[in-house]
Amino acid sequence: MSESVMVARHLFGPGPCNPYPEATVALGRPLLGHLDPVFIETMDRACEGLRQVWGTRNARTLPLSATGSGGMEAAFVNMVEPGDVVVVGVNGLFGERMCDLAERCGAEVVRVDFEWGQPVDPETITSAHPNPKIIAVVHAETSTGVRSDIKAIGERKGDALLLVDAVTSIGGIELLADEWGIDIGYAGTQKCLGVAPGLAPFTISDRAWERRVEKPRSWYLDLGMLGGYVGEASGKQRTYHHTAPVGMVVSLAAALERILDEGLDNVRARHQAAGDELQAGLEAMGLELFAAEGYRLPELTTVKVPDGVDSAKVRAYLLEKYNMEIGAGVKQFASTVWRIGLMGPNANPGSVKLVLGALKDAIE
Ligand code: PLP
Repeated sequence: MSESVMVARHLFGPGPCNPYPEATVALGRPLLGHLDPVFIETMDRACEGLRQVWGTRNARTLPLSATGSGGMEAAFVNMVEPGDVVVVGVNGLFGERMCDLAERCGAEVVRVDFEWGQPVDPETITSAHPNPKIIAVVHAETSTGVRSDIKAIGERKGDALLLVDAVTSIGGIELLADEWGIDIGYAGTQKCLGVAPGLAPFTISDRAWERRVEKPRSWYLDLGMLGGYVGEASGKQRTYHHTAPVGMVVSLAAALERILDEGLDNVRARHQAAGDELQAGLEAMGLELFAAEGYRLPELTTVKVPDGVDSAKVRAYLLEKYNMEIGAGVKQFASTVWRIGLMGPNANPGSVKLVLGALKDAIE
């Protein structure tokens, strides 16, 4: 095996993060058939674990065989028909991607822009159109490190369905899908859930289910056909839809078990503490944080590159000398912002010290 394949890094960028050890070990288990009773039981456990991290009792909660973008695509393709009005909050790259998807599905897109680094304002987004079918928002904008107040948006959504991107929030910060009125939610495994990329945890409420597109343009992501795949009403016979990515589901189930054993509140507190300590440490170094105060994600910190410092050179130095990956900024902030993620098992005081020390060395 070539050395490059074996290299291990501190994955302190915007994701993927280093997986929980339990998730990694699970990947090495003997492969099971996708209709094996042991695997089916594991899938059930994964779905139940996902309900917990989503904060939902939605029966239709499952890991889609796709990355986060596949989850996003499933959400839009199953919910949007030509002419439907979709209001999208855009305060970063992933809000923009939602607009693209909604448009491809033929929606009348009402794009509501907010300054990058600021949250989506609940009042503005919910009054952008009198009667939209969907209001779509990113909970944790990975491109800017900002959290938006989904609860406040849910309270004002009226008859609209609330569609939420929880890729970077799930398993890291508070997420209460039912309490907040989230009707359709998608996420990813490679951030705070501490699993490799490859699955999209998905949840949909009964209310949204009744208003979904009867025959979506996508066969693979048609939620109506996926019911049997996860044994939708438990006790029902599993039916073949596509071959489940068995290893990934087993790995996800192991990570969820680990998270729930630690306790969701404890896991969230661990992310918060690591983020707080990192952000305080960066400011103590004289650096300026990018995301608006009060809306900063603990799991993903955005910090301005100091004047006279070459962003790319620093990142290359960290990779070379410390085997440490941090992220560049996105689009217009590509060379002026760094993104530092402390997600999953990386949300701990040791990682904070490691990244602060390495960054200090790299800048000086
Ligand atoms: N949404 C958000 C907020 C993300 O951070 C990402 C990925 O970073 C995605 C969607 C897309 O997920 P993926 O890259 O797994 O397709």
